[in-house]
Amino acid sequence: MAQVVDGKKLAEEIRAEIRERIEKLDRGAPRLAAVRVGDDPGSKIYVRNKRRACADTGLDSIELHLSADSSEQELLEQVERLNQDPAVHGILVQLPLPDSISAAHVAAAILPEKDVDGLHPQNAGKLLAAQPALYPCTPLGCLEILDRHGIQIEGARSVVLGRSEIVGKPVALLLLHRHATVTLCHSRTRDLPAVVREADIVIAAVGRPRMVQGDWLKPDAAVIDVGINRVDGKLVGDVDFEGALARAGLITPVPGGVGPLTIAMLLRNTLQAFQTQLHLGGA
Ligand code: NDP
Repeated sequence: MAQVVDGKKLAEEIRAEIRERIEKLDRGAPRLAAVRVGDDPGSKIYVRNKRRACADTGLDSIELHLSADSSEQELLEQVERLNQDPAVHGILVQLPLPDSISAAHVAAAILPEKDVDGLHPQNAGKLLAAQPALYPCTPLGCLEILDRHGIQIEGARSVVLGRSEIVGKPVALLLLHRHATVTLCHSRTRDLPAVVREADIVIAAVGRPRMVQGDWLKPDAAVIDVGINRVDGKLVGDVDFEGALARAGLITPVPGGVGPLTIAMLLRNTLQAFQTQLHLGGA
């Protein structure tokens, strides 16, 4: 029977560590600016949760809401205004954006040192080169879960399902830098179950409800389920939870697994951005 990760509790532990570090600062609190475009109900909830987490941890936050018919140019102007504002240390633009706006253009417009989602090409390049930078929050959260449960990464066979810029690729790189043997899978991978069966660590980030079956897993594997899928009004992951529970060594539930860690890592990135901008050192 797998150990079930308590993501909320873990995130609260991390938030307490961040809170303590912020209380010791004598240069004010880090400030996050969250930008939302349009009226996507999911985005509204995500931004609200992120701002609540900021308030609970001692970070300041502001929200900028642009109407759904805003142009890319208007959004880029607002981003530039936040780039120039010394009182703003972290900027996040909540995805998804309306079809008329390129998420890649927006990510590239945020100053790399304020890019707390870690999506600017400069930060992505630094991750590739294993140089210190702001890295994407969900991948950082996945590693944090493994580390805080004593899962050995070095030498572990790790299979990542999904190759997005925001989860799959960066989590594969983070695992690689920690000396895991990494296989990165996607929709064209042949015989996925056979590949997954080799893995000591499985990271599922495909967005397909309950795709990974219990009998795909190596006994005692550590399974991190990043997926968030709505099925019949209920949230489920990319892993069949019941099947995995019987076979894995560690499993993250959905909800209550990776999600809270993603937010905790956003707070940590905002503190890191603040320290870099104020030349305070230390991440
Ligand atoms: P994307 O849609 O950008 O990427 C999905 C990836 O999965 C692609 O690389 C795709 O392959 C691959 N894929 C799709 N179908 C299959 C399949 N049948 N077999 C193998 N691979 C497949 O998703 P994201 O990375 O943005 O998100 C993934 C999931 O994680 C979503 O459910 C999302 O909601 C969730 N998420 C959760 C977060 C959290 O905090 N918990 C944060 C971010 C995302 P290909 O490239 O070939 O198309």
